[in-house]
Amino acid sequence: MAKVSYPYEAPVSQALFDRASVVTPGGVNSPVRAFRAVGGTPRFMVSGSGPYLTDADGREYVDLVCSWGPMILGHSHPEVQAAVLAAVARGTSFGTPGEGEVALAEEIVARVAPVEQVRLVSSGTEATMSAIRLARGFTGRAKVIKFAGCYHGHVDALLAAAGSGVATFGLPDTPGVTGAQAGETVVLPYNDLEAVRAAFAAHPGEIACVITEASPGNMGVVPPLPGFNQGLKDLCREHGALFVSDEVMTGFRTSKAGWYGVEGVAPDLMTFGKVMGGGFPAAAFGGRADVMGHLAPAGPVYQAGTLSGNPIATAAGLAQLRLLDDAAYARVDAVSAQIQALVTDALTKEGVAHRLQSASNMFSVFFTDAEVRSYEDAKRQEAFRFNAFFHSLLADGVYLPPSAFESWFVSAAHDERAIEKVAAALPAAARAAAEATA
Ligand code: PLP
Repeated sequence: MAKVSYPYEAPVSQALFDRASVVTPGGVNSPVRAFRAVGGTPRFMVSGSGPYLTDADGREYVDLVCSWGPMILGHSHPEVQAAVLAAVARGTSFGTPGEGEVALAEEIVARVAPVEQVRLVSSGTEATMSAIRLARGFTGRAKVIKFAGCYHGHVDALLAAAGSGVATFGLPDTPGVTGAQAGETVVLPYNDLEAVRAAFAAHPGEIACVITEASPGNMGVVPPLPGFNQGLKDLCREHGALFVSDEVMTGFRTSKAGWYGVEGVAPDLMTFGKVMGGGFPAAAFGGRADVMGHLAPAGPVYQAGTLSGNPIATAAGLAQLRLLDDAAYARVDAVSAQIQALVTDALTKEGVAHRLQSASNMFSVFFTDAEVRSYEDAKRQEAFRFNAFFHSLLADGVYLPPSAFESWFVSAAHDERAIEKVAAALPAAARAAAEATA
């Protein structure tokens, strides 16, 4: 563990964490929330408003996580809340089709040209799991290519993530995933088209699909090099495989049409989550109608869900998407650019080697001066500096993702007061990063 001091106590959060640790493994319901990478006590949040979160000790933070992406309009947006409350008043789950899910599907299809049909699910994990099953069912092939450092949820076959950076069969990243489950997964270094070409050559007629984050944010922000996604698409076409673009993180965030809207490379299948749920569990996968037509009940590939298309989640998602017009994206982009500039200025003034990487309004800081193009590059950063930086910001009321390998997220609700609070906190954080030791 890095030598980091924790300048503020959080007694109420600590007491809650102690209670939670008795009844829940590690005290959390999703591992990164436990602060294991940075140390210290995870903050239990009790409310959110616009760009701010308030924790159980009554301290306010500028939120640069935004629930890991979904809260692109900020917390407790009045129109999203009104849509949710109106939906709740009508009943919470029917287990039948409903108009809300049709409207949300129409909104997705209207925004993202390659999506001709879409199926709603409840999490990004479900979306990628189902897309992989569909790709296998459609092609009649078993193998899947994924990239080291790309996260696609906790799908068994896709947890073969931390490959050695060479073209090799995936080894499971976690106990509980068998060699057989991960053994059809080929893990390759990100941004390396030659490795993809070699894998297709090594497994002729066996690869069902290539799945990639449209622009990765789960190893920090590592955008695709120019031509990489197009190259993947071309190789897939050449070899009869499907190109699956995971836009769970980038979808409806990096533009109205997600990363597709930025780059224009049309995948065969796409996955979505986060922003499209407006803070509720809604996700989706969609794409070419001839491929989607293989899904039950239209076709033989089974996929289902008791709460799929839940009326509250679809109402929240639809309300949020309808508010996300050009002006909203311009605001998110502007906030992102301002905060990026402040971070670079503060770190530069303290002489801290760093690299700020961005993909539209997603960004993150790597504590290295070399360009980060892959997971191997990302792992070479001085992550101990991030931990000191994180805790200094936390103490001064700025909430960052508790890991050096995550994207930061801002919202259209981040106003001048919020940005000034970040600006005021950064000099001390940069100093802490400069002084940190491994
Ligand atoms: N795909 C990507 C790119 C993600 O970033 C995530 C979650 O962070 C997922 C899939 C999994 O989504 P969920 O956490 O909703 O299961």
